Amino acid sequence: MTESEAEQYAAEIEAARVLFARPVSFVMGAVSVDQLPSAELPEVAFAGRSNVGKSSLINALVGQNHLARASNEPGRTRELNFFLLNDALHMVDLPGYGWARASKVAVKKFQNLGRDYLRGRPNLKRAYLLIDARHGLKEVDNEPMDALDKAAVSYQIVLTKADKIKPAERARVIEATQAGIRKRPAAHPIVLATSSETGLGIPELRLEIMQTCGVTL
Ligand code: GDP
Repeated sequence: MTESEAEQYAAEIEAARVLFARPVSFVMGAVSVDQLPSAELPEVAFAGRSNVGKSSLINALVGQNHLARASNEPGRTRELNFFLLNDALHMVDLPGYGWARASKVAVKKFQNLGRDYLRGRPNLKRAYLLIDARHGLKEVDNEPMDALDKAAVSYQIVLTKADKIKPAERARVIEATQAGIRKRPAAHPIVLATSSETGLGIPELRLEIMQTCGVTL
């Protein structure tokens, strides 16, 4: 990166910080796809196994502790939760999957809701698939990736809780994850590592979302 490119990047990171410090509100929790808010604004969605750190990541992005509920209680993440940022974009918290304690029927219902949403949302710019940095990709993550590839929804892997592993291990997991998605047509080739605890990767993810949604300030 040249000096002027570095300055440009720093300015973009700052603009993204400002955007995510603007007002954000909870719009609604939808339990079926007929209830979704209007599809006019650009949208990004967050998916991942229950307990992967999805609520914590959304809270870290907006710098608030209680916007998305960080909770291990499964019942709280059964809906598609819509958040509106700066009247400019929606962030959508999808129901967690791979939730061991749920009944099979309940699991299917939540998965179908997530899948129907991902398949049919014209303003969805990108889905972020959250993966615990300590575990990397697992068998259970194949189903959502298959669904995203099939629906041709652009998605990017975001590793969560990266503070829990050492930098060398982090580099190894990023590499293994990038190798694991190489043949997946709708997957973004770059894997981001984040920590809601230390803020690692959060400014970069804000910028990605801002650019993906085409928002300018
Ligand atoms: P969700 O079910 O995917 O919404 O997961 P939560 O955001 O509720 O997080 C699950 C658990 O992981 C909570 O105990 C969080 O405090 C913890 N957690 C989430 N993100 C991080 C992180 O970046 N670092 C660490 N060390 N813990 C995290």
